[in-house]
Order: sequence, then C-alpha cells, then structure tokens
Amino acid sequence: MNGATTSPPPATSIRELNATVTRTELVSYEPATGAEVWRGPVADIDETVARARRAWPAWAAQPLSTRMELMRRFANEVRKDAEKLAAMIAREVGKPLWEARSEVDSVIGKVEVSIRAYAERTAQRKLDSALQGTMAVRHKPHGVLVVLGPFNYPAHLANAHIVPALIAGNAVIFKPSERAPASGEILARCFHRAGISAAVMQFAPGGPAQGAAFVAHEGVDGVLFTGSANTGISINRRLAARPDKLVALEMGGNNPMVVWDTPKLTDAAALIVQSAFATTGQRCTAARRLIVRDTMYDAVMSEVKALADRVIFGAPFDEPAPFMGPVIDNAAADGLTESFLYLLSHGGRAIKHLVRPHETLPFLSPAIIDVTAMKDRPDVELFGPILQVIRVSDFDEAIAQANATRFGLAASLIGGTPQEYNRFWANVRAGIVNWNRPTIGPSHAAPMGGIGLSGNHRPTGYYAADYCAYPVASGEMEQPRAVIGVGLK
Ligand code: NAD
Repeated sequence: MNGATTSPPPATSIRELNATVTRTELVSYEPATGAEVWRGPVADIDETVARARRAWPAWAAQPLSTRMELMRRFANEVRKDAEKLAAMIAREVGKPLWEARSEVDSVIGKVEVSIRAYAERTAQRKLDSALQGTMAVRHKPHGVLVVLGPFNYPAHLANAHIVPALIAGNAVIFKPSERAPASGEILARCFHRAGISAAVMQFAPGGPAQGAAFVAHEGVDGVLFTGSANTGISINRRLAARPDKLVALEMGGNNPMVVWDTPKLTDAAALIVQSAFATTGQRCTAARRLIVRDTMYDAVMSEVKALADRVIFGAPFDEPAPFMGPVIDNAAADGLTESFLYLLSHGGRAIKHLVRPHETLPFLSPAIIDVTAMKDRPDVELFGPILQVIRVSDFDEAIAQANATRFGLAASLIGGTPQEYNRFWANVRAGIVNWNRPTIGPSHAAPMGGIGLSGNHRPTGYYAADYCAYPVASGEMEQPRAVIGVGLK
C-alpha cells in the first residue's frame, strides 16, 4: 500500500524513480518527460559538518539585525531568480508552472513572517526587581542544524526551516530531497549571493543514506525534517538515546474532510476537489478521506464527480495550464495504482477510476472511491490523487470516522452549524482544524504541525522560531549581594 520506495532504479531509459543516488553521485529526472535534470556529487558528510562547526560561532555572534538584514537580501535574490526557480521546480517535481510560481512567492514571504515570528516567539524579556536584580530570558541557537527536505515543496518547505534557523544564529546543512536537488541548489545560491557564507548555509545533496549519516553525526546538534512518517520514525529511533539533539519532525497525514448540511454544493465541491487533488494530491495536508452525511451524499458526490471530471492533468508547461501535473515518479504511480486496485478488490466502489494514460510516465487522473463497505481500511497516507469516500448517518459517527487514523495533521468541516463546528473542533484530533475552508494551504502566520504520526509536537510555520533556539533564563545583578536569613548559628 505504500507508493514510496528508495531503492535505485534499473539503468533503463525510462526512469522508475526520478532520482538515482549512488555513494558518490546523484541524478534527478523530470517526471513529465523522464529527461535528466541535474547531476552532481553527493555531499561529503564529515567535511560538510566540519565546515559548519567552524562557521557557526561567528554567525551566532553577529547582531540579530545583521542576520535579519541578510535574510531580506536573500528574499531580494529570490525575487531576481523567481522565474528560474519556478521553472526548475515545475520541471523537477512536475507541478504546474502557476503553482511553482506560488511556491516561490511563499519562499519570499517566509522571510518577513520569520522575522516577525522570531521577535514575537523568542523575544528577550526582562523582569526587574529592586531586591533580586534582573530575571532575563534570552534565546541561543543550537549550533549546527541539518534540514532534510521533501520533494513536494522542494524550495518552500526546506526554506521554512532554513530561514528561522539562520535568523536564530544556527549554521544550516541543507540536504534537499534526492528528487529535487536542482531546485535546492538554486535556493542555496540565493542565500550565498545575499552574502550568507556557503559554510553557514551549506547545500549538501544526497539521498536517504546521506540524510541518515547527517542525522547520526556527532557534530550535528539537531535535525529539522519534513517528509514521510516512515522516515520520521526511523530518525526518531536513530536518536532515541540522544535527547541532547533537537528533532523536529513534520510528517504526513490521512486527513479527513467532513461534509454536513450546506446548500452551497458548488462551493463545497470546489473545496473538496482543491483539497484532494491540488499538487496531484502530493500535499501533506491533502484531504484523503471525504466523510459525507448520507442525506447529502448523492447531491455532493455528483457535484464533486462533475468537477473532478473537468480537472486537466498534464505537463507543467502545457497550455491551457493543467490543474495538476504528474506524480513524482513511476514508482509512485505504480504504488498508487496498486493501492487503488487494493481498495477496489476489498469492497471499494469506484466513483471515478484512476486512469494512467501513459504507461511509462507518471501521469494519473484524479480518482474517487467509496470505501464505506470496506471492513479494514488501511490507515496509510496515499500520497497522490486518490480520494476515499465514507458515508455516515450521524455527526458522532462522522467525528469517529474523522478520528479513525493514527495521523493527525489537517481536518475540515464543510457546512454544518456553528454548534456542530464547535463539536467538530473540540473532538477532532488534528493540528489544523478548519471550517468551510480547504484542508490545504495553511497560513504562514499560524503554526503548522500535527499530532499522532504527523509530527512530534514541534510545529513549524509561525512556531518554527520555538525549535530553532533554546531559552536561557538568567538571574542577574551587577554586584554580588546576598544574606542567609535562617538556619545559621
Ligand atoms: P521522504 O521521507 O521520502 O524524504 C524526506 C527527506 O528525508 C529527503 O530529503 C530524504 O532524502 C530524507 N531521508 C529519507 N530517508 C532517510 C533516513 N533514513 N534518514 C534521514 N533522512 C532520510 O519524504 P518525501 O517523499 O520526499 O516527501 C513526501 C512526504 O512528506 C509525505 O509523507 C508528506 O506528507 C510529507 N510532508 C509533510 C509536510 C509537513 O509539513 N508535515 C510537508 C510536506 C510533505
């Protein structure tokens, strides 16, 4: 049931995975065509860590205002390279160009948000008392942090860790997804052109083996990870005896969307299709399970099916622009096809079949399947354009179905009364709980993270500042002044 695989592909002209990683070299391929995009050496782990360790004390000693100014220069460098970066993201991970452009906007927007967040979340505080001097709270960086990026937002999601980590005074080792090194390299160059040294923000291409080696390295003080739950668990396990290392895990979801009473069927269908199929379903917050009140079922599902039928899927630069591109590689497309067949053969009823028009390329149509009659629905993240539908008769059952998962990233209620939304909000287990809004597209001004298998209680987004620095409490007086009041002879 899991579409992801990390074994290297056979040396055929048609790529099974859009990356090959050996001990020395990494190559990435375009999902839409199979053409090679990037080739280069993998990072030398010891050398990379040693450079970062040498560089970070001077970076940490810079005034905060200098680091903030350099981040603003970085945003300007991204502005200059915006089209180049967007085109590379579109080529390398297959998302439509319009969507890649909005990813670049998020990269730029992250800088001001992170500056605000640092000031608000990690501000210096002082409590003065005439007798006890000053109680000061200040924050310090951890040291060398490794950022492990996912493929689906190869620039924005890595950047969402990198910028707050640099502002806080850490040196960063950025290992992009092995499936998107070219996008990562353009991003890294923007930092360097802005004047942040290539030792303070290092670009370190590699695959899972390099990621695992950085995680385990003695010279790394923390790991900021975005990716699948399986990888996150393996990182957590690897560091189980290392409570000294900071570990922030942003992982996947099996996100529910509940549709209750609403007269606004067209809007409901648009929210559902957006949530399930944007980025070809390759978003951590994508709606995977649609839970529908039975009295609404026929009306809602016919609107959703009609809209999904209109979705254009195609190559990133096609005109007219597609709504969604291919999935990341053939192995992912094979895994999703297998998963759809599994659901079908275990009691699922197809509302809209998963179609793969090119056998050798990973294009998939949006697919919808009613799984109400299935006994044991696998609670796994199907990272692609498959929406499972469950029919329920009362609101408690809807909430129980929404919570029938080990994950807990995003959940939405469409329709319903304010009282029903209150019940939903109070009882649904997720880090993002929305009303009449999609499950996707979290606000930059809010924390972003989940519970259960979706994270380890270190949300990113606005709260990234919290894990990028640790608080130091200091009782301070200019002169020693003390008396012992009791217990002396
Ligand atoms: P992945 O887990 O395959 O890889 C993520 C990163 O970890 C890559 O850089 C990879 O090289 C590295 N890695 C792989 N194995 C490793 C190991 N054993 N040790 C250390 N590093 C290792 O994830 P992906 O397929 O690139 O991304 C998709 C996944 O990311 C989905 O599950 C999605 O839900 C999740 N995701 C989560 C969020 C979030 O904010 N919660 C955002 C986007 C994506």
